Amino acid sequence: MIKHDVVVIGGGLAGMRAAVEAAERGADVAIVSKMHPVRSHSGAAQGGINAALGNREDDAPENHAFDTAKGSDYLGDQDAIEAMCEDAPHQVIWLEHRGCIFSRLPDGRIAQRPFGGAGTPRTCYSADVTGLVMLHTLWEQLERFNVKVYEEYFCTALCVEDGVGTGVVAYNMRNGDLDLIVAKATIFATGGAGRMYLKTTNGYASTADGMGIAFKAGIPLMDMEFLQFHPTTLKENGVLMTEGARGEGAYLLNSLGERFMFKYAPNKGELASRDVVSRAEWTEILEGRGVDGCVLLDMRHLGREKILERLPQIRELALDATGKDALDSPIPILPGAHYTMGGIETDKWGCTRVPGVYAAGEAACVSVHGSNRLGGNSLLDTIVFGARAAKHAIEYIATTGEPKPSERTLKQERDRIAALLSRSGGTRAPKLRDEMNRAMSENVFIFRDGAGLQKAVDRLREVRHAFDREAYVMDKSKTFNTDLVGTLETDFLIDAAQCVAAGALARTESRGAQARTDYPDRDDANWIKHTLAWRNDGNDPRLDYSRKVTITKWEPQVRTY
Ligand SMILES: Cc1cc2nc3c(=O)[nH]c(=O)nc-3n(C[C@H](O)[C@H](O)[C@H](O)COP(=O)(O)OP(=O)(O)OC[C@H]3O[C@@H](n4cnc5c(N)ncnc54)[C@H](O)[C@@H]3O)c2cc1C
Repeated sequence: MIKHDVVVIGGGLAGMRAAVEAAERGADVAIVSKMHPVRSHSGAAQGGINAALGNREDDAPENHAFDTAKGSDYLGDQDAIEAMCEDAPHQVIWLEHRGCIFSRLPDGRIAQRPFGGAGTPRTCYSADVTGLVMLHTLWEQLERFNVKVYEEYFCTALCVEDGVGTGVVAYNMRNGDLDLIVAKATIFATGGAGRMYLKTTNGYASTADGMGIAFKAGIPLMDMEFLQFHPTTLKENGVLMTEGARGEGAYLLNSLGERFMFKYAPNKGELASRDVVSRAEWTEILEGRGVDGCVLLDMRHLGREKILERLPQIRELALDATGKDALDSPIPILPGAHYTMGGIETDKWGCTRVPGVYAAGEAACVSVHGSNRLGGNSLLDTIVFGARAAKHAIEYIATTGEPKPSERTLKQERDRIAALLSRSGGTRAPKLRDEMNRAMSENVFIFRDGAGLQKAVDRLREVRHAFDREAYVMDKSKTFNTDLVGTLETDFLIDAAQCVAAGALARTESRGAQARTDYPDRDDANWIKHTLAWRNDGNDPRLDYSRKVTITKWEPQVRTY
């Protein structure tokens, strides 16, 4: 048995920020991560992190909060949004003081670029590798505080005894052992669920594990129907071309060579909110003004120097995948699955409904992003709410006694995994995953309707039952059994996908990232409320709408850009 005061599941930005906060406050904290922390998906973040630094007279945290509330299509909780935007400048300076190298203005202050849906340029960045630079900064801090990292440990379940979180069960991928990891406080920072879709910007590890684990333990997932489609991803492999490109001035063109965005967003054009730009692109493609199923991202006019200084990584990524050099050729792009606005329900301190269990980062739904996240607000969310969850956890463990661990969940997990491994035939996880991916990509995409969503719900129910009945792990070995780990990930993805499809079908309106062709309008009278999806014993998730949206300053308005 392993024991720590605080255990953080996940070594991405949210997890590392939480661990560093706990370590700075003197707690005995450890990270459990299925891969080395600096390989987390956070390292792929390109464009930047939002903060009203005070560099510009026309910006303040309140403006940032307004843009975020508006961007959320008024589904974000405004008390949490205000807390995040207020803390943003402090967190960026905190990172900077710990060695995070941000790009600069000529006078030495941190530079900020314009991003979609923002009233003023407030996205701080390190060229187009911001996530990687932040991740390495936090890794250095983990080393500084000697934080223990259980690397290549795959968390499979949460332990709850007498209604209180007491730690997790984790599978040691090196030798096949299952370990009980006891903790007074457990923080899930396991990232997003992009792998629900056939094509996504997300890394292979973004498989909804924390969401599935919490859901199976009886914690609800919130607002899962809101899945962000990023406007600029490569057709070839789903890889992201940062919004920073448009922030630096790149255009979107259709087959007629037209900058079509101004038809859809007369004021902001290419820098409208992501949901607006993705729908516009998809409409152009559906109406026959696409180029080989794509539209074009044109950076040529930015000039060689600016592209090489500010956007070097995406130029290379595009060159590798498409053979086209952004210096002299437009890049074909289309919208792709990118960010999970929903997640494990928490309050603005990262607390779930189970004392001692927290969530932060993309795994969590606080909710600050509501039905549509603004670019640059997710890196911010990881840092702000990672730190806040740890702060709360430290206060919590000071008042709580020793956890009363039991081996109940460990035994359950041993039996579950032994049962999976003992099957000598059945359906292998990649096939089930492919069916789930198709159900999602075909029916729960940018534009949705009742018939398609019902089809997705039905198909996903079949996939769920097939998984429970016949999931088959062919590899029986104990050392790096990626077949088994992939099967467990598929199980979590199916949970998440079922919540997305059920929530989307039930929500008979269009808001943010949910665009229903059969309900094209936003319906504030009936739908300014969060969706909670609960586990329901193998049946479709049970939905409830008891959680209200917190509105502090900004009453819902018509949202135009
Ligand atoms: C290509 C790309 C570019 C982006 N660019 C930006 C940007 O410019 N600005 C912005 O604000 N946002 C951006 N985002 C979004 C943002 O990067 C992510 O939302 C954020 O980094 C997620 O951080 P996280 O710490 O929550 O999770 P992750 O970084 O995904 O980390 C998850 C961690 O959990 C661990 N883990 C998962 N499951 C388990 C398990 N079962 N057991 C043990 N460990 C587990 C993993 O090992 C990993 O360490 C981008 C996202 C992508 C995909």
